[in-house]
Amino acid sequence: MGEFELIRHYFAAAPCARAGGAVALGIGDDCALLSLAPGQQLAVSTDTLVEGGHFPNGAEPFLLGQRALAVAASDLAAMGAEPLGFALALTLPANDEAWLKGFSDGLNRMAEQCRLRLIGGDTTRGPLTLTLTVFGSVPVGAALTRGGARPGDLLCVGGSLGLAAGALPLVLGQRQAEPAIAVPLLAQYWSPSPQLALGQALRGRASAALDISDGLLADCGHLAKASDCALQIEQSALPLSRPLVTFLGLDGARAAALSGGDDYVLAFTLPVEHLPALQAEGFTVHVIGRAVSGSGVQLLDEHGRDITPAVRGYQHFPESP
Ligand code: ADP
Ligand code: MG
Repeated sequence: MGEFELIRHYFAAAPCARAGGAVALGIGDDCALLSLAPGQQLAVSTDTLVEGGHFPNGAEPFLLGQRALAVAASDLAAMGAEPLGFALALTLPANDEAWLKGFSDGLNRMAEQCRLRLIGGDTTRGPLTLTLTVFGSVPVGAALTRGGARPGDLLCVGGSLGLAAGALPLVLGQRQAEPAIAVPLLAQYWSPSPQLALGQALRGRASAALDISDGLLADCGHLAKASDCALQIEQSALPLSRPLVTFLGLDGARAAALSGGDDYVLAFTLPVEHLPALQAEGFTVHVIGRAVSGSGVQLLDEHGRDITPAVRGYQHFPESP
């Protein structure tokens, strides 16, 4: 199968590539065309995943397709955007049809879950690398940014933390666990659910938001900096799931939640008056702390003592000391 036949078979003919919705022109021309409704802004985000760095060598292609799109779509959720479409730049070491079939099936599954249409991309040869660009729409001025938190706001997260980081030793084959533990941890790693509905429900309510990709402490640091305030996190309020605590112990589970990354759960600041309505609408909202004046992120124990650890999260190019 040549390059064009490959693109046609596995991507242009995929269910997620059918035209419709905001996609006025999809795969096949030099550009795709997206129609935005009046009063909407385009939200755009790109993520790259490199084999051996962002996912293990030889990862199952279905899981990879699913995860790659979920990671990208999570950025739309974090801005409160409604998903429109995505482009896929695929660098492949070989023309492996079994791999392409699995990958495009996984991609389709997550595209359906997120209501995202594949609108274009690029296909090249080289070390396995996936670059996904997602497009969404958000009413003008309504996007959730990182820079609006005010002292007094609650600090909240949209789900339990640390599961994907806890799954890493399982993903890498360094540890094993019984199914009651392995299944929920691996599910969160390979198939995170972008919190798109929550993000849209936070429009006009949350003062600032982002999705947790680098670890709670590191990402809260980004939000605090952009908002020019400080964030206090109460360690005892961290939402930890039972399988994670069983697998890692309480201290290990806390470390995974604080510094592990790959959660793709929303973290946001919320003026307190908006909490009841969100909960009444059925959203999971864990209040884990608050915004205060000052700068940086502090982790507090149950006596209010500062127990902030030195190491914050993962960086590809760490800052020099
Ligand atoms: P061009 O040379 O004009 O960039 P290409 O030959 O790279 O066009 O691609 C042809 C069409 O197929 C374009 O519409 C492009 O968006 C689409 N395409 C290429 N690779 C992919 C892919 N991996 N997934 C989805 N669409 C793709
Ligand atoms: Mg091209």
